[in-house]
Amino acid sequence: MALIVQKYGGTSVGSTERIKNVAKRVARWKAMGHDVVVVPSAMSGETNRLIGLAKEISATPSPRELDVIASTGEQVTIGLLAMAIQEEGLKAKSYTGSQVRVLTDSTFTKARILQIDDERMRKDLAEGNVVVVAGFQGADENGNITTLGRGGSDTSAVALAAALKADECQIYTDVDGVYTTDPRVVPEARKLDTITFEEMLEMASLGSKVLQIRSVEFAGKYKVKLRVLSSFQDEGEGTLITVEDDKNMEQPIISGIAFNRDEAKLTVLGVPDRPGIAYQILGPIADANIDVDMIIQNVGVDGTTDFSFTVNRSEYTKAMAVLEQVKQHVGAREIVGDNKTCKVSAVGVGMRSHPGVASQMFRTLAEEGINIQMISTSEIKISVVIDEKYLELAVRILHKTFGLDQA
Ligand code: ADP
Ligand code: ASP
Ligand code: MG
Repeated sequence: MALIVQKYGGTSVGSTERIKNVAKRVARWKAMGHDVVVVPSAMSGETNRLIGLAKEISATPSPRELDVIASTGEQVTIGLLAMAIQEEGLKAKSYTGSQVRVLTDSTFTKARILQIDDERMRKDLAEGNVVVVAGFQGADENGNITTLGRGGSDTSAVALAAALKADECQIYTDVDGVYTTDPRVVPEARKLDTITFEEMLEMASLGSKVLQIRSVEFAGKYKVKLRVLSSFQDEGEGTLITVEDDKNMEQPIISGIAFNRDEAKLTVLGVPDRPGIAYQILGPIADANIDVDMIIQNVGVDGTTDFSFTVNRSEYTKAMAVLEQVKQHVGAREIVGDNKTCKVSAVGVGMRSHPGVASQMFRTLAEEGINIQMISTSEIKISVVIDEKYLELAVRILHKTFGLDQA
């Protein structure tokens, strides 16, 4: 007998019919003798709808109230799912994040899980219940409702699996595993049977939204066995996230192509080339709670330099406003920005032992006439920022160039 945590994404619980199917799957796992904790997302489109309502009231909604609203989507699905499981003749109990006590910090709209109280869940499981816990949410130490960032139910599931020391965390979604790239963009994408934590972490942080980044971080840190599967198929092993396998000589150089449509670029032109400038520009950005992704500083000419960085597109206006504030202080000539950019990345642990991947990537893009605006590399990834209109083309040709297309 094992303890399994199963997470079902928005599409998988997108209608009462689908919720009934989820209940049937849960019942099958119970019938095999396993204990099951289920973590549903809100019904597909619901979180967007709720945030939309908030924005009809206020252009700059209070993050605390936004979380109160956004978290209700999952409260609906836990109740419906617990009922559907009861209809299967099983015992089931639903809990919101704050009821379980998923304790988070107080960073509304992107809170981090600090601790999970497993007592109640263990007691319920011992009494034969399926425990249904709302994804995406928790509460801070003062009882304020928080949410974990978009796609956060993945993280809820993995954190619950870690707290309960579950045997496996299964992420059920609308594709049957992790692919070499988003199969909706490249139909030739191939499903991977396994992918290393390191690669999955890069893929997720570079834009592959199949798993939220923090869920992968959590799984790596707490050694949670993590698998991505389809909720629409009864068969299939999905993709298992594994530790690096040295014995696997067949490892491809590139495992996948990730992309992020939400990149926006800001450039501070003509800043004095002296110590402390990066801090003076990025300090206020960090203080405004804006995450910075890529950073480039040019070589100084005539005592001045240009400084560029990227942020999530949703924070573009906010970041621009911060820069306008610091402009005078740092003595910059001009602030320019572009929120029609995107980022495309090639990821693979095999890159470590194979030089020349970057040049192959740049050549391929050049042959298509795609201009590279920014570049960033690490041991196992190469990312470029390009004009968003070339996104699909770039992903397709890189997928092909690196031999990832299905035969
Ligand atoms: P859920 O609602 O179940 O959490 P998501 O939409 O968050 O589902 O994630 C699943 C989606 O991730 C897929 O439908 C697919 O379009 C997208 N995706 C992006 N990159 C990949 C990838 N490399 N492999 C599989 N799916 C991917
Ligand atoms: N419902 C939340 C969202 O849409 C969380 C999730 O689906 O994982 O972002
Ligand atoms: Mg998701």
